[in-house]
Amino acid sequence: MFEQFDLDSELLASIKELGYKKPTSIQDLVIPQAMKGNNIMASAPTGTGKTAAFLLPIAQHLLDYPRTKPGFPRVLILTPTRELAIQIGADSEQLTKLTNIKTGVITGGVNYGSHTDILTSTTDILVATPGRLLEYIENEQFDAREIEILVLDEADRMLDMGFVETINRIVAEARWRKQTMLFSATLEGAGVLRFAKEVLDEAVFLESNPSRKEKAVIHQWMHISDNSQHKLKLLVNLLKQEGVERTVVFANKRETVQYLSGKLYAEELPCVWLEGKMPQDKRNKAIERFKSGEIKVLVATDVAARGLDIVNITHVINFDMPRKVDIYIHRIGRTGRAGNKGTAISLVEAHDMAVIGKIERYTKERLSRRIIEELRPQHKESRVANKKAKVKLSTAQKKAKVKKQAKKKTKKTKAKK
Ligand code: AMP
Repeated sequence: MFEQFDLDSELLASIKELGYKKPTSIQDLVIPQAMKGNNIMASAPTGTGKTAAFLLPIAQHLLDYPRTKPGFPRVLILTPTRELAIQIGADSEQLTKLTNIKTGVITGGVNYGSHTDILTSTTDILVATPGRLLEYIENEQFDAREIEILVLDEADRMLDMGFVETINRIVAEARWRKQTMLFSATLEGAGVLRFAKEVLDEAVFLESNPSRKEKAVIHQWMHISDNSQHKLKLLVNLLKQEGVERTVVFANKRETVQYLSGKLYAEELPCVWLEGKMPQDKRNKAIERFKSGEIKVLVATDVAARGLDIVNITHVINFDMPRKVDIYIHRIGRTGRAGNKGTAISLVEAHDMAVIGKIERYTKERLSRRIIEELRPQHKESRVANKKAKVKLSTAQKKAKVKKQAKKKTKKTKAKK
């Protein structure tokens, strides 16, 4: 029950309106600690409700200690991507809509003028991507010294994206803060731990153990492939299969995203695509077409893996395997959100087997090997990697197999007689 947390009725009413019946496990862990004012370091898999876990205590703090004069934001939430910043901004507005708390979002990729309002009028909660915010700090358009609570969301990702210097400078500017919360999908990497040590004093270490219902049910398997062309044929085949509805296809490079989009159109598979260097308006449009269901396939680089809160993604297909396990985990986390079932299919070349081994060790599960009969891998290495693969037969093939077996049986019985 959310009532146990001592939240004001305005917040409880918004929670009810959003349809949240009871706190998720990360919320159960984080909210009481955050409300005590403790520094927090938490691992939270995607889609388990971590946003509300930090937004609710933040909102309660602002209600408990109302501002006495206009000024700069009192809460700063840093996120790795624009989409995630926009999403958190929207969540914050929803949760605080019955209060006077004001939320603002600052990201790169948009006109400088569009932030004038946030920079010149009073905003309480600011959600920002690090690069643009630091620019405003350096130009003295923004003062981080009024920040009381700092949240570093998806810290592992921000480090991966090379934001460490920028964040360190913003963190130093926000030196009068009273509380810092760091969220990361995993707390395993040495990078995150080292970084956390620098920005967090005496943090409470919280590791959520999502219940089965919260945990995504993701069916995972892989197809061994000979090369890129083979992968393309597999992709087209998969996308044309029944039940493959809303699918995100991941590629490692921008060029591959473009190449694939063209090929899919040629196969009469309309898609939208998303990659890092795209202008914001184009990006928003692509997301919108995919979100609305107008287009069923989104081809993207990893930039899209973060922050996109699109529900009902049925399939994630790794056209390219990521090089790191945590990226794999983030990618497949796009499907099977909030207890829905999802499917993650990886197209794997012989040189990807090392990362497959790592993924299997990390998830403690073996990725099953599947084959589409008419697209069997041909290379010797692929065949070796492919031992014990399950063959996926078409209905016609299945019927033929049953017939053959029946025939064999009759023959045997006859022979006995
Ligand atoms: P997040 O991990 O913050 O991205 O949240 C994932 C999804 O779960 C979002 O769509 C939230 O609106 C939703 N959510 C967050 N908290 C709860 C809750 N207590 N009950 C049900 N849904 C929730």
